[in-house]
Amino acid sequence: MSQLRNAPSGKIRTFVSTHTSPTAADLDAADPLAAFRADFDIPDGIYLVGNSLGALPRAARDYVNTELDRWGSLGVEGHFTGALAWKDYHELLTDQLADLVGARRDEVVAMNALTVNLHLMLVSFYRPTARRHKILIEGHAFPSDHFAVESQIRQRGLDPETSLVLIEPRAGEETLHTEDILAAIAEHGDELALVMLPGVQYFTGQVMPIAAITEAGHAVGAVVGFDLAHAVANIPLRLSEWNVDFAVWCTYKYLNSGPGGVAGAFVHRRHVADQSLPKLLGWWGTNVATRFAMDTTFDAIPTVESWQLSNAPILPMATLRASLDTIERAGGISAMRAKSEQQIEFLDRRLAETLGDRIENITPKDLAERGCQFALRVTNGDGKRVFDALENARVFCDWREPDVIRVAPVPLYNSFDDIDRFVDILDGITS
Ligand SMILES: *Cc1c(COP(=O)(O)O)cnc(C)c1O
Repeated sequence: MSQLRNAPSGKIRTFVSTHTSPTAADLDAADPLAAFRADFDIPDGIYLVGNSLGALPRAARDYVNTELDRWGSLGVEGHFTGALAWKDYHELLTDQLADLVGARRDEVVAMNALTVNLHLMLVSFYRPTARRHKILIEGHAFPSDHFAVESQIRQRGLDPETSLVLIEPRAGEETLHTEDILAAIAEHGDELALVMLPGVQYFTGQVMPIAAITEAGHAVGAVVGFDLAHAVANIPLRLSEWNVDFAVWCTYKYLNSGPGGVAGAFVHRRHVADQSLPKLLGWWGTNVATRFAMDTTFDAIPTVESWQLSNAPILPMATLRASLDTIERAGGISAMRAKSEQQIEFLDRRLAETLGDRIENITPKDLAERGCQFALRVTNGDGKRVFDALENARVFCDWREPDVIRVAPVPLYNSFDDIDRFVDILDGITS
């Protein structure tokens, strides 16, 4: 490994020890997941933007074609025929999604899109009273989450001015301190109805201490929910054990389900059969045994599936199935995370060796506080030019205003060589 040492001048400098650090080729040769790259179609170039849209799992074509063929040959009977019957198709996704988020089968469902699911959860879990009416989110929440929460507050006749609490990093800092989050929860105490935070922050890549936040929220009597858009299939999660009340996520980022893919939702077992929760209803939430009798008495499925509204979109669920099967073959989140940690350390090392202080990474340093995404800032303020030059060199990454380039080596389909070449290109552009 490279080491940071204090040079005699007192200036920090980097050097490579003579006990040579493993090269990209060494790491790729030893990588048990290396073969999975061939299971994806990857655009020509260096694809480091799985944090935004995951690459196409090749199996997706077969899974979709199967459903197109079933539609063509069975027509409406496809809803009821065989192991892939469309009326139950969403159930085919449940076990694998539950594994990824650390939940039980009755707590997880694939449905709708992320922001839709967030609204459905807020309808059920934001129940303001005269005293307890506040929602705590981050000041730099993903805009869709901010809009959802703000509009739910207004929908109840309340004012975001008084009911929305925004938690900000300390002055001059980018990421949140756990103690500050917990202190804010304690401060608003019995006025706090809901805490809604990300599992992994979309801009900085910071992993939130989900268990500690949940415990602190519960200690003051608040409900605690998470948006796992950047967490699912990136870091290991244990939602049931951590006692999280609800969670939502999209599947087109690290879950490779394709543009606009079907989202997921989690409701903790202690709530799934609670008939006292307010809920928006649709026919897909009622008992499947009586659903097609078209009775208008709602008979809630005693699982999170009672939040379903509409019959499921089979084609995007087919691509998601293909991705989940690919992930399962690779050994699931523990295998992916093991490689991801090596990739994070390799990119850290290569950036430190090669770019020095030309690049600042605002993502936390500690592995426990970060997923695979890096949030890089070009220290001379030239970030947008550097980003454009990366794009011209066919490095797929993304730009987030005001000054951050996000890159995410994804363990299932990125090689250590991808990381190596990215750093060399970045070096060429910035030197
Ligand atoms: C990607 C992302 C979204 C996108 O929402 P959609 O409803 O899927 O369009 C929302 N919130 C967060 C935190 C995200 O990372």
